[in-house]
Amino acid sequence: MSRLVELGRGLGVGGGAPVAVAAGPCSVESRAQIMATAASVAASGAVLLRGGAWKPRTSPRDFQGLRAEGLTLLSEAREATGLLVVTEVMDVETAELIAEHADVLQVGARNMQNFSLLRALGRMRKPVLLKRGLSATLREWLAAAEYVLAGGNDRVVLCERGIRTFEPATRNTLDLSAVPVLREMTDLPVFVDPSHGVGIRSCVPAMCLAAVAAGADGLLVEVHPAPDEALSDGAQSLTLDGFGDVMRRLSPVAEAVGRSLAAWKK
Ligand code: PEP
Ligand code: MN
Repeated sequence: MSRLVELGRGLGVGGGAPVAVAAGPCSVESRAQIMATAASVAASGAVLLRGGAWKPRTSPRDFQGLRAEGLTLLSEAREATGLLVVTEVMDVETAELIAEHADVLQVGARNMQNFSLLRALGRMRKPVLLKRGLSATLREWLAAAEYVLAGGNDRVVLCERGIRTFEPATRNTLDLSAVPVLREMTDLPVFVDPSHGVGIRSCVPAMCLAAVAAGADGLLVEVHPAPDEALSDGAQSLTLDGFGDVMRRLSPVAEAVGRSLAAWKK
C-alpha cells in the first residue's frame, strides 16, 4: 500500500484513496483557453487542473509559456472552478513565485536529475509531482525522489510519462509495468501521464484506462479546447468532449480494480 499524500483542500492521493485525475492544456495560452478548459474538465470530473506556465521546449524558437501571466491565469481558473493547480517548476529561481500560485509543483522529465532544483523543493512545503526522466531507470527515479524527501518534504508523487526506446511509432514508450513494480519498491503514490507517454490523441484513452487498471493513483492528461491550434502538444491533447468520454469509461475500470474516481463534494 502506498502512503497517502495530501495535495490540498483535503484531497489525498495514494494509500488506497480514489484515483485523482489532473487535466488541462500542455501550456496556458490565454484566459479564454484556460478558463474554458478548467470549467469543462471540472464538469467531467477532474480534481486538478494542469497547465504549463514555464515550458521546457526542445527548441528555443518554440513557445516558451506565458510565465508569470500564466500563473495569474491558473490562479483565476482555480478560483472559478475549485480545481487544485499543478504546474511545472523549471528552475530554483522561479520556484518560490510558482509555489505562491500552484498547489502541486511538477518537476518535468528533463529536470528529474536537476539536483539543486530537487533540493530547493525539498526545503519547500508544497507537494511535488516528480516525472520520470526520459531514460531514467526506476532506481534513478527513486534516488531523485530521495533528494526532495531528504529535505523534509515528504509529499512526493511519482509520474510515469514514457521512456525513450527504439520504437518510433509512438512519442515515447509508456512503461505501465512501472506502476506495479514501483509498488514493490516504494510507498510513494504513482501517477501516469498517457499523453506524453504515447503522444497520439487517438491512443490516449486506451492508455488512461490501462493505467488505472494497472493500479495508478492518478492520471495527468492533456486536454485542449482546440487541439489543432494548440501552441504545444496539440497532437496528443484530447478535446473537451474526448476527455469527458474518457472519464465516463474510466469509472467502471476503477471499480473493477477496487477503486473509485476522486471527486469534489458538490
Ligand atoms: C508536460 O507535462 O507538459 C511536460 C513538459 O512533460 P514532460 O516533462 O513529461 O515531458
Ligand atoms: Mn506537454
